[in-house]
Amino acid sequence: METQSRGVIFDIKKYALHDGPGIRTTVFLKGCPLNCWWCHNPEGQNPKPERIWEEQNTQKEIIGREVSVEEVITEIEKDLIFYDQSGGGVTFSGGEPLMQPDFLDHLLIACLTRELSTTLDTCGYASWEIIKRIKDKVDLFLYDLKMIDDAKHQKYTGVSVLPVLSNLKKLDEEGKYIIIRFPVITGITETEENISQLAEWITKLETIKEINLLPFHKIGYSKYIKLKRENKLLNLNPPSTERLDQLLDIFRELGFKTKLGG
Ligand code: SF4
Repeated sequence: METQSRGVIFDIKKYALHDGPGIRTTVFLKGCPLNCWWCHNPEGQNPKPERIWEEQNTQKEIIGREVSVEEVITEIEKDLIFYDQSGGGVTFSGGEPLMQPDFLDHLLIACLTRELSTTLDTCGYASWEIIKRIKDKVDLFLYDLKMIDDAKHQKYTGVSVLPVLSNLKKLDEEGKYIIIRFPVITGITETEENISQLAEWITKLETIKEINLLPFHKIGYSKYIKLKRENKLLNLNPPSTERLDQLLDIFRELGFKTKLGG
């Protein structure tokens, strides 16, 4: 029974307004193959539940818990009325949900059975076999695209960009509904070089015509302290409003529907 399948999550966010259309419930699956320097959810990277520390090094709590599909669906179903009224549904985020393919697949099947709209927030770093298995159960992909240069992608995220690009291209060729999410990281992803490579690459896509810009912010800083993890971008400033406006204009002129955030 798919509802007995189990996986590890670290949060369920109700009434989410920026993780896809309408009012949504976002389920955060734990584990990510990347280690982005700017990650706002570092507690989502480790696939296992882990201990976090308070400032005095005394109190501690465990982030992440193992749950069944049934338990997650029970939570999701509590807000059915909001999804119906707003055109919302369920978003699977993380971490990287594709790191738990069986659990994700079974969650998606359970949503499909209940006619719930599904969104997958993904970094796209997975084998095509895994993506092939889930792709037709996802209504909308929020697909992160950070940088095109492979050496730089490896430096700043820990992995090659090649599978990310190849999977995106295949999903695009199949006409899947995809919104690209571009994290705007000062001096790293918003450089002239990366923007021009990105622009060249995305204009070759056949059906994708939307891009959301996600500006770097410092909200996740305290999480690094609690996890006793090094924060490599401690002194980095968020991009200026002028720069964000410039970038929005660039992508609009390329024929893309653009949005800041979400
Ligand atoms: S892909 Fe997302 S969750 Fe994973 S490390 Fe990067 S920013 Fe964090």
